[in-house]
Amino acid sequence: MAEETIFSKIIRREIPTDILYQDDLVTAFNDIHPQAPTHILIIPNHLIPTCNEVKASDEKALGRMITVAAKLAAEAGIAENGYRLIMNCNQHGGQEVYHIHMHLVGGEPLGPILNGHLQN
Ligand code: 5GP
Repeated sequence: MAEETIFSKIIRREIPTDILYQDDLVTAFNDIHPQAPTHILIIPNHLIPTCNEVKASDEKALGRMITVAAKLAAEAGIAENGYRLIMNCNQHGGQEVYHIHMHLVGGEPLGPILNGHLQN
C-alpha cells in the first residue's frame, strides 16, 4: 500500500491550498515554490506514487490531467505563447513528492529543457 503524501491532504482540502480545479479524477493547484510566473501542479485524486506504477485503469485520469492543463493554460493566458508540461520520476528525474503530478509551467521563455542533456 503506497504511503500518502501532502498531496492527499490537499485533495481532501485538509490544508489551505490555492485549488484552481477539481473534479472526480484530478485536482490542480498552484505550486508552493513557483519556478515561473505560472507554475501549477495537476495530480490524479487516486494515489499513484510514480509513473512506474501507472496502470491501464489510470489512463482516464492521466488523459484528464492534460485536458485540465490545457484549460488552465488558456485561463492563465499562456496557451498561445506556450508552456511546458513536466512529470518527474524517481531520483534521477528529480521527483520529490511521491504522488504523481504534472507541472504546468509558463509565462516566460523557459529555455533549454534539460541543462545540456539531450541537446544537439
Ligand atoms: P517534484 O520535484 O516531485 O516533481 O515536484 C514537487 C513539487 O511540489 C515542487 O515543485 C514543490 O514546490 C511542490 N510542493 C511540495 N509540497 C507542496 C505543498 O505542500 N503545496 C504545494 N502547493 N506545492 C508543494
